[in-house]
Amino acid sequence: MTVTTIGARADGSAIAGPPPAADVSALILDLQAQGLRLETQVERRTGGAGPTDSGMLWVEGFQITAPVMPSSPYVLESEDEGYGIYRDGVRLATAAAERRPRFYDRQTADGIPYWQIALLHLDSLASTVVQHCTYWGNDDQCQFCGIGVSLDSGRTIARKTPEQLAEVAIAARDLDGAVDATLTTGSTRGVDRGALYVARCGQAVKEAAGLPVEVQFEPPYDLDVIDEVGAMGIDSVGIHVETFDPAVLARVAPGKARTGIESYFAAWERAVAVFGEGQVSTYVILGMGEDPELTIEGCKRAVDMGVYPFVVPLRPVAGSLMADWKPPTSAYTTPIYRRVLAYMTERGTMNSTTAKAGCARCQACSGMSSMEPVLQIGRRPGA
Ligand code: SF4
Repeated sequence: MTVTTIGARADGSAIAGPPPAADVSALILDLQAQGLRLETQVERRTGGAGPTDSGMLWVEGFQITAPVMPSSPYVLESEDEGYGIYRDGVRLATAAAERRPRFYDRQTADGIPYWQIALLHLDSLASTVVQHCTYWGNDDQCQFCGIGVSLDSGRTIARKTPEQLAEVAIAARDLDGAVDATLTTGSTRGVDRGALYVARCGQAVKEAAGLPVEVQFEPPYDLDVIDEVGAMGIDSVGIHVETFDPAVLARVAPGKARTGIESYFAAWERAVAVFGEGQVSTYVILGMGEDPELTIEGCKRAVDMGVYPFVVPLRPVAGSLMADWKPPTSAYTTPIYRRVLAYMTERGTMNSTTAKAGCARCQACSGMSSMEPVLQIGRRPGA
């Protein structure tokens, strides 16, 4: 385990040793709430649908994304070997930052840079395969989403082909050690809501690069579509309700609210039958004004049916309708994580190591995996 200087005595001498798991978890939750100031260059992601405007790093071996905030009390500083996280001059933890992936320097035969096709989020290759959504730019737009932002800025292309994604996945695996692929899509008005195209892309990635693949989509109008996605060899799926509080869903995601929370449960039930327990996940965003009890009850119901509730703090995306919001405090998120994790442990069906691919496998946007060692469950740092 890394030996880390975790503080200083009154006389200025260093206190050395690995920080206790509880301190690391508390730090990670607070970094996700209060962000991080950068006194050094790290790979970061701006705009878009995923962990945007974030520094992506490893803190004491845990993958995390944290918002880059100039007002944060936490500072990432470069050291002789790697990085340290400091607060008020006291070193709190060892960090490692993502370097610029090597595959970003490549391009397709027709001149499209690989980084416009897919990005590396720590060790996961990620892409929004269709950058248009039927909800975007009208009254239905999800307020937390930034899917149109990166397209408008020219950082990506509107539609990636299965062949392009397969080519990039091989390079990301070979040059940068990508271990899985996470593919998402804007929603269509078709019966499949876009699920079949993103699954075709996933199938191409899996066949070419052999990486486990998660695809993400809205509940299809015809649930048989989920069987078709399974038949394409996809490993995991994300079908994201975003919040279990119906009033908040109606306010922040009117299109999803019209689909209705019960339709998510119906889609999850079919998906668990196809992909297995813990291979189906949903984002559950904290900090949008939701009722914590409704949130926890919804997570428990999801766990009961084999769905992994991937609980994350709101990460306000520049250019989104919630750009001016702030992430929730760690005082708010900590007890919710703790109660959801305690319930998962009691049920014993899944933890942060269960998903084969995707956001629930990576875990960087949530504080859940860092809390597992504190509760004596799940993964250890760096695992
Ligand atoms: S459904 Fe909502 S979150 Fe998903 S891409 Fe469309 S606007 Fe964004």
